[in-house]
Amino acid sequence: MQPRKILVVDDSKLIHKMFEVLLRQYSLVHAHDGLEALQVLGNHADIDLILLDINMPTMSGLEFLYQIKADDVFKEIPVVIISTEGREEDTIRGLEAGAAASIKKPFGNQELLEVIQRL
Ligand SMILES: [Mg+2]
Repeated sequence: MQPRKILVVDDSKLIHKMFEVLLRQYSLVHAHDGLEALQVLGNHADIDLILLDINMPTMSGLEFLYQIKADDVFKEIPVVIISTEGREEDTIRGLEAGAAASIKKPFGNQELLEVIQRL
């Protein structure tokens, strides 16, 4: 069986490295802002889940989320918001816009894996 494919969207290089270690059993695809993530989605029709940072340059996670939820091809892909302490408002907006779950930095490995496996 092919490993499930996860798109990681975050402007922090550290987060990408961390996910590479934590999510070794998955196939990861990387983007560093919303615009790049849209391009990556266009090139990978088989993304199973998206881990999404909100605060990013060029195109924010919220803007990216609004765009994919308005797109019939991508709107069913579950999105998990990676939220930052003190930015609860963004998380609430994201969940209202159709994100499936949120996880707050710093999160435990077990917590992250549970959320991903559930979705
Ligand atoms: Mg960020």
